[in-house]
Amino acid sequence: MATRSKGYKAGVVEHAREAILDLPVLNFLAYRSAEQIVQDFTESWGMSPKAVVIPVLASDGVYFDNPCELPLSRAVDPDVQQARAPIVDFAKAVYDFGEQGLDIYLLVAPSVSFVSANPLLVVDSVGDTARLTCMTKNGCRELISEIVAEAVLLATDALASLTMENTPRLRGLVFDVVNIWPMSSTNGRIELNCFCEDCVAVLERHMKGKYEVPDLLGHFRTYPSPANLLLSENPGGILYVERVVSTMKAPQVVGLSRMKGFHEVWEGHGDSELLEAADYLMEYLRARHRLTLESLQSIFDEVLEIVGRERSDLGGLDVDLVILSEGDPYDWTAGLFLDWLDSWPADFARKPCDELWFDPTSVSPQVKNLKTRSYMWRRSRYPIDTLFDAITSLGDDDLRVSTGWARFDDDQARMMLDLRKRSTLAGRMEGLTSLKALSAEPNRVGFVGPAINDLVINKMIHDAPVVRGRQDFT
Ligand SMILES: [Zn+2]
Repeated sequence: MATRSKGYKAGVVEHAREAILDLPVLNFLAYRSAEQIVQDFTESWGMSPKAVVIPVLASDGVYFDNPCELPLSRAVDPDVQQARAPIVDFAKAVYDFGEQGLDIYLLVAPSVSFVSANPLLVVDSVGDTARLTCMTKNGCRELISEIVAEAVLLATDALASLTMENTPRLRGLVFDVVNIWPMSSTNGRIELNCFCEDCVAVLERHMKGKYEVPDLLGHFRTYPSPANLLLSENPGGILYVERVVSTMKAPQVVGLSRMKGFHEVWEGHGDSELLEAADYLMEYLRARHRLTLESLQSIFDEVLEIVGRERSDLGGLDVDLVILSEGDPYDWTAGLFLDWLDSWPADFARKPCDELWFDPTSVSPQVKNLKTRSYMWRRSRYPIDTLFDAITSLGDDDLRVSTGWARFDDDQARMMLDLRKRSTLAGRMEGLTSLKALSAEPNRVGFVGPAINDLVINKMIHDAPVVRGRQDFT
């Protein structure tokens, strides 16, 4: 029996292909060493990881001193840290995982919430700003590129200082795009991001020819707006039509909208008006895809250029561009079509990315060409990022009053955090059965398992400072 079980396990491990460990936040290292985190991973998946994903930014700042003088995360800054956990060190993290024989990926979400400069923030379709930077803006792209370049320099130096055979290497830059274009809704009105001057200029450039400018995007400021065809406000969030692909024509969009019952808000509007709105919406989504990809690629190129300029020995560094998304055919908060990433139009200057990581249970169209990796969490990194952003925001004076958390007093905030923790943990996929269920497509090169340890999360929540929000004073 033992032999049979061994044989089954070996089969699943082979089917799963290469394993990668994702460290969600650097603070984990204050509770578990790199060696322990690798052990935990190996125990829960039955196989050891070959690489680790290390984040460059937290929601309250950068994990290392940087030339842009952006704020440091409390996780690494002994001067401002009010938490009880010991501080952690970015370069040491790279070194410690490297010592375990793991290659390194660096992860960055290209929009950040710790820069409060108003001109750099996203502007939604009705003109409101949110506390998040827009990566279409040159200033934001430059900041992110400088920070990631610094991370690359620190990481390559840390790896070079290892004294071992087969020194691990920096494999790639992972762009976590699960929530770069957040959306919200009020009274059925959908608010999409981002419609800042820079985004509008790029979107208009891509849509030009088909639609008249000026105020091409003014259609989104009416109700119902074209977005109401595929999105609908719901008490638990925004509902959406799932199978939206880049080639969809207006009649299909309207058909899907009717099937979901979203068309009801269009009562009194004729069929031709709906078809027109659908056509316009699809043009907008394709333009948003182009804009998003252009920005990601330009950050990637800029990082390599800075690194090569700073250090001639690192010129032409061979690293992969990885996109990490939830995995919906069209991902509204990532602004990307999966099918267009996989088979890109002829006028795209280059291959969109080297690897695509997403939740294997999503309803994604089959990705046949690009290398893919299954991200073993429902909705991929979205709930994980949201949970850690919440833990961080509650301890940050600025974020506590400038984000949605301002609506809650201390007790309510703790309760909400507990709820969020539980809903996040419910998205876990684990063990042999999850691996066995992964697709056998030859372009799926492996899987990514986030290092989420319930005990560590409980301790992090316990140790996190909670500063007072607006509601505590009313
Ligand atoms: Zn913008």
